Amino acid sequence: QDIPVDGAKKVLLAAPRGYCAGVDRAVITVEKALERYGDPVYVRKQIVHNIHVVRELESKGAVFVEEVDEVPEGAHVVFSAHGVSPAVVDSAAERGLQAIDATCPLVTKVHREAVRFARDDYQILLVGHEGHEEVEGTAGEAPDNVTIVNSPEEADTIVVDDPSKLVWLSQTTLSVDETMETVHRLRARFPDLQDPPSDDICYATQNRQVAIKKVAKDADLVIVVGSANSSNSVRLVEVALQYGAKAAYRIDYPDEVRQEWLDGVKTIGITSGASVPDVLVQELMRELAHAGYADIEEVRTAEEDLIFSLPKELRTGVPRGG
Ligand code: SF4
Repeated sequence: QDIPVDGAKKVLLAAPRGYCAGVDRAVITVEKALERYGDPVYVRKQIVHNIHVVRELESKGAVFVEEVDEVPEGAHVVFSAHGVSPAVVDSAAERGLQAIDATCPLVTKVHREAVRFARDDYQILLVGHEGHEEVEGTAGEAPDNVTIVNSPEEADTIVVDDPSKLVWLSQTTLSVDETMETVHRLRARFPDLQDPPSDDICYATQNRQVAIKKVAKDADLVIVVGSANSSNSVRLVEVALQYGAKAAYRIDYPDEVRQEWLDGVKTIGITSGASVPDVLVQELMRELAHAGYADIEEVRTAEEDLIFSLPKELRTGVPRGG
């Protein structure tokens, strides 16, 4: 095994990484709701899939619940960035809750596509992971029309009603390559399968995957900061391994890095999922600098400047971010 000379140790820092526009908006939504209405503000499900973010908001007075029936009648409830099905909106209204919708506009876009294709009587093949909140929300827009396709393998076996009236849509946070493989296999069976009107895998997911592909080919080890239930973070580990990283691990916090991961490692690639605040990456880099990886090179493959306006209930008054 090569023993690296200290000077040769290096970090390749992928960019873009971390917060996307939808996560940024969702987190600010909860903070602004707390400022405006006082605590507690209830949040259905984790606002974004990151344990650090959830703990921080809890410490400010947010109360996370699984379902709206846990929220006291009349209270404020925020719907998470992953979106909700119409059934959830209805139960919140029945309880007289003041709902604030932090669904990412790029998820809402997929909901609208589902509604439109269902209205035109299409069977919708929704490529995504069953049980993920976003998939539940999107499927809930057209439960009778949606069939979930979990993997390329499932594309070979799913049953359709009318092969001439089929469209595929997808979860926003999938691996681009794997999704294309799924679609390729679906199209081999159903040549009339229609594409979505525009990409459903969002810009942030795509950009983070492109950046880590570039980093991975030169990395002995890739560390992805992100939580276990964060779809796009888990995909980044898979993509890193597919594109040449010798090893890749996901961590929530820097203290999870194991000493043995660094054995013989010269170049460490770092990235983070779309729900991860950069403070965690900065902390990781400080820790790695102590272990001799102080030389940091940013590998940037795209610029991002998208910002979404806050939900309408919170738009007036205090300026955003102020
Ligand atoms: Fe929106 Fe994409 Fe971020 Fe999800 S990952 S919140 S779809 S921008």
